[in-house]
Amino acid sequence: MDCIFCQIAAGKIPSVKVYEDEEVLAFLDIRPISDGHTLVVPKRHFGTLDECDPDILANLVCRLQTIAKAVQQAAGSEGYNILCNNGRAAGQIVDHVHFHIIPRNPGDGVLKKWDHYEYPEGKAEKLAEKIRQKL
Ligand code: 5GP
Ligand code: ZN
Repeated sequence: MDCIFCQIAAGKIPSVKVYEDEEVLAFLDIRPISDGHTLVVPKRHFGTLDECDPDILANLVCRLQTIAKAVQQAAGSEGYNILCNNGRAAGQIVDHVHFHIIPRNPGDGVLKKWDHYEYPEGKAEKLAEKIRQKL
């Protein structure tokens, strides 16, 4: 078992836990990008979101809502981001699906790079059609 989050879930590696039940664990990120930065994980190993058992994911997302509210209140932040990196290209480093809860305040400069652009004529419709075909 070389997955770091499996080891944390099994209590073999210490973590600062904020929530735990049979299926879900939430703990503070060891290298936060804002105070209260929390990770929420299923205790069972799934690499990415699309690999996660849907029932476990549904339960986790319900817990995520409650935990995020508590994190926000405890951090005294105005808002928060929920982030789930999937794949190296998206910045996933730990291959055990996890949701980041990142407390946010106006002007905090966290996650500030968000370069928007516009689709050329017709591209959005083509992409949407491709997505629909995959569903
Ligand atoms: P990713 O880039 O995979 O979405 O994020 C993984 C996160 O896990 C990073 O923010 C990183 O700081 C955190 N992390 C990695 N190893 C550990 C650990 O051993 N303990 C804790 N608490 N967080 C970790
Ligand atoms: Zn794992």
